[in-house]
Amino acid sequence: MELNVVGMMKELRGTYASGKTKSYEWRVSQLRALLKIADHHEKEITEALRSDLNKPELESFVYEIAAMKSSLQFALKQLKKWMKPEKVKTSLTTFPSSGEIVSEPLGVTLVISAWNYPFLLSLDPVIGAITAGNAVVLKPSEIAPATSALLSKLLGEYMDTSAVKVVEGSVPETTALLEQKWDKIFYTGNGRVGRIVLAAAAKHLTPVLLELGGKSPVVIDKNINLKVAARRIIAGKWGFNNGQACVAPDYLITTKDCASQLVDALKSELEAFYGKDPLKSDDLSRIVNSNHFNRLTNLLDDNKVSGKIVHGGQRDEANLKIAPTILLEVPGDSLVMNEEIFGPLLPILTVNKIEDSINVINVREKPLSAYLFTNDKRLKEEFIRNVSAGGLVVNDTTLHLAEHSLPFGGVGESGMGAYHGKFSFDAFSHKKAVLQRSFAGDIPARYPPYTPGKLKFLKALLNGDLIGLIRALIGW
Ligand code: NAD
Repeated sequence: MELNVVGMMKELRGTYASGKTKSYEWRVSQLRALLKIADHHEKEITEALRSDLNKPELESFVYEIAAMKSSLQFALKQLKKWMKPEKVKTSLTTFPSSGEIVSEPLGVTLVISAWNYPFLLSLDPVIGAITAGNAVVLKPSEIAPATSALLSKLLGEYMDTSAVKVVEGSVPETTALLEQKWDKIFYTGNGRVGRIVLAAAAKHLTPVLLELGGKSPVVIDKNINLKVAARRIIAGKWGFNNGQACVAPDYLITTKDCASQLVDALKSELEAFYGKDPLKSDDLSRIVNSNHFNRLTNLLDDNKVSGKIVHGGQRDEANLKIAPTILLEVPGDSLVMNEEIFGPLLPILTVNKIEDSINVINVREKPLSAYLFTNDKRLKEEFIRNVSAGGLVVNDTTLHLAEHSLPFGGVGESGMGAYHGKFSFDAFSHKKAVLQRSFAGDIPARYPPYTPGKLKFLKALLNGDLIGLIRALIGW
């Protein structure tokens, strides 16, 4: 079916102008419809994710379906509170007056999502757009075609399609969408396309939220529970879509004297999780397609890392599988250290002192996440103060994602803006300042003709000089 973008925009503008999407009831009805999709179609969603990524059922359920339901349930519980105007204190300058911040929807919004968590990353931003009272178009990733088709079908069946639409497609369709004037664009994906989105939005002065990626580091100190640390690193890397996650650990940093113990701990837990032949494990997603498979094998075949593989390295091109692979002491100019890995390879860098890891991180672009395993209070404080990243986790990986009370988003090259919980509502709202006064308390000093007495009075008032104010009032 040919895409009639102009007609679609006209319909969405009409729906938004009718005011329907602004009502609490409409927002709740749409959130409930999304909940029904998750409840009634769990099997189809899991199958689509299996088809796109061979994603294990447990990961599909926990990180895509349950995570999306949790966002919905939280939003349904909080929505009334979020929609309430927030009363603020006003000052002497505007006395007598009352002030409030009114959250209003932005209008007609666009969500462009990525392939790695194609269900969650499509619907989580849509939840934000709906809670804030917007009309929304979702453009899922063509690289996860089964999930894209399923989203189009289910949203078409369950949602109010005069205000919530799915447009499937790749670059031509996205380009056509980006030519339109939107009131907000929410993009998840890589920074190269992020720049295309931002440039297209600039033409219409459209605000943009960019959820990008980067090289998320993990620092591992000595004197810690290495077994638990290894398990949590593995869960965040290979147990998270086989490393194809924006917050997956990208590289590890430890001290020279701890490296071999760390490698041993990772190897032994990896074997316990995925067996002796991980290519046969059903608990690892496959690489999404042959382009990404070739990209990852090029990183491994780089001369600069030959002889650096200390675990794994096996590949199965026919089934697009690469085993969990650890590389030790890779040079800084190797390919694997110069792009986001986004796959099952994990390099380990070593430093003389653990404090040096902060410099190693800070000479690179700001990552989406950074992780630290330590028992040292001073190191924790130094890490939190000096490492700039979208988010930090101490003594675990990736779990900050699951907290509704924490914003999720990048900084610098890893993105701009944040969402999750109330931050999603705010991301799709305009915070309208409303100041209300009555006709009482009209101060003549505001108005011409300006006299020395009026100036004296206003100076005292605006400087908060009470005695000066009394003097000015009694003309002294
Ligand atoms: P992708 O290839 O699915 O692209 C994302 C979207 O951009 C798709 O919908 C695609 O159709 C669209 N697109 C691609 N080329 C385009 C073009 N020329 N013009 C307009 N639109 C275009 O996903 P990806 O970029 O491979 O995703 C991986 C990247 O996303 C990684 O860097 C990862 O870290 C990041 N990511 C970030 C988050 C986050 O929440 N911060 C989540 C997932 C992925």
